[in-house]
Amino acid sequence: MKFRAIPAIFIMSNLSAAVPDRAELDRMAARFARVEMKVDLSSLSAGDRKALPKLIDAARILDNLFLTQRWTGTHALLEKLKADTSALGKARLAYFLLNKGPWSEIDDHQAFLPGVAVTNPPGANFYPENMSKTEFEAWLKTLSEGERKQATGFFSVVRRGADGNLKQIPYSTEYRGELEKCARLLREAAALTANATLKRFLELRADAFLSNDYYASDVAWMDLDAPIDITIGPYETYEDKLLGYKASFEAYVNVRDDAETAKLKFFANHLQEIENNLPMEAKYRNPKLGALAPLRVVNQVFNSGDAAHGVQTAAYNLPNDERVVAEKGSKRVMLKNVQEAKFQRTLIPIAGRVLSGADQKDLSFDSFFTHIVAHEISHGIGPHQIKVNGRDTSVRLELKELYSALEEAKADITGLFMLQYMLDHGQLPADGGKAERKLYTTFLASSFRSVRFGINEAHGKGMALQFNYLTDKGAFMAHADGTFSVDFAKIKTAVRDLARDILTIEATGDHAAAQAMLERLAVLRPPMAKALDSLKNVPVDIAPVHVTAMEATR
Ligand code: ZN
Repeated sequence: MKFRAIPAIFIMSNLSAAVPDRAELDRMAARFARVEMKVDLSSLSAGDRKALPKLIDAARILDNLFLTQRWTGTHALLEKLKADTSALGKARLAYFLLNKGPWSEIDDHQAFLPGVAVTNPPGANFYPENMSKTEFEAWLKTLSEGERKQATGFFSVVRRGADGNLKQIPYSTEYRGELEKCARLLREAAALTANATLKRFLELRADAFLSNDYYASDVAWMDLDAPIDITIGPYETYEDKLLGYKASFEAYVNVRDDAETAKLKFFANHLQEIENNLPMEAKYRNPKLGALAPLRVVNQVFNSGDAAHGVQTAAYNLPNDERVVAEKGSKRVMLKNVQEAKFQRTLIPIAGRVLSGADQKDLSFDSFFTHIVAHEISHGIGPHQIKVNGRDTSVRLELKELYSALEEAKADITGLFMLQYMLDHGQLPADGGKAERKLYTTFLASSFRSVRFGINEAHGKGMALQFNYLTDKGAFMAHADGTFSVDFAKIKTAVRDLARDILTIEATGDHAAAQAMLERLAVLRPPMAKALDSLKNVPVDIAPVHVTAMEATR
């Protein structure tokens, strides 16, 4: 699973009226700020430095495969665009590459080129374009159990045979040529690295490309703990909008961030102490927390395929194979330099409009990222397995459709509580009160960034709830000039109160209370709506230029 908000409010309204001209295409592309991604490779061993370009080349092959998977016409259209050297042709090519196809992702996948369908085919190139869901389901009934499993699995395409009947082809056959090349590169990289967990993952993943059995390599990926942190293969099923079965190829070639990894360890060591001090009745606290789900903080050198189109992924949770998840859990990878680029190109301009000049000085990427880490860790504390009227259940089961939004708000606010606790107890440097100012001011500015992506989605909804709660407590203030600020005399108590309210709803599995809270607070009130209106020209996201990857493979 990946985390890319759907920015519904940035849709360009006149797109459906006509095919956009050059000026319009430039405006559309400008919503993505170009950022050069540079990563320090000096900590890599000599062997790893030689392995890296092999992995980037392998990732490029998957980029090409993803284009094949997206739509039958992608490659032919791309060649046509490359041949068009007019200014309009160039603008079309640039926006095509950004979207990896002729449909503008953040405009609800509307076509921006002439001569293509108004939106992308729901079955992408995983199924015949003229196949209906009903036909697929009827065909399933004719299959053996094993065949049916494959047909509804991640790693096969469905095609129409000469007789007009449906048939399936495993990825290892359908994409043989490219996957062989990719496997060869992974093996060459495996031979160059000295890290045993990386070697093992690369060898097993190379086998998987050719055998179509990804299980062992998914398990090896869970154990991967290496300076080069790579994710490569068919993973997410978002592109299969018809049935949601088929996985798209993608790759993330990353380098582990050792300083952040040490910070994570430090947080993990204090986790039980935080749980023991959570602002809720003592009986709801967990006296013995289990192990934290694995978290990695990395810097992205290169991304490709399904990992690299439209809004950029800032974090992902994998694998998706339920057998592996049941056995080994899943791992979350956080892309620190991608977060930083988004911070620079979207949050700083947002803060320029919603904070006063003086408060803008307290905006800090370090605070921003530390809070993201605290948010992730906070998902692991607080109530999960609970008892309601003596019955064993879980927060998720009790809160149902409200769970995601409330749990996201809980992770944010408990993350703030946790960092404040650590500041108060000398576990993090208070920096003469500056750390606190930075933490809350950065959080205030980032609330506009989250809500900007819409309050129909869990993170935006959870953030609107917090913003309004903290405002009602006087901890956030709206001013007549359109700016907002933190009342530092009130914020700590307000954060604690909100954490207590949410944690208690979770501990008691109180659906009615969750509903009342969300209905009252997870809304867009006029001052925030007005502020969001003033942010229309701030970039939606980034368009990374992989400078380090280009240098490494030159
Ligand atoms: Zn979360």
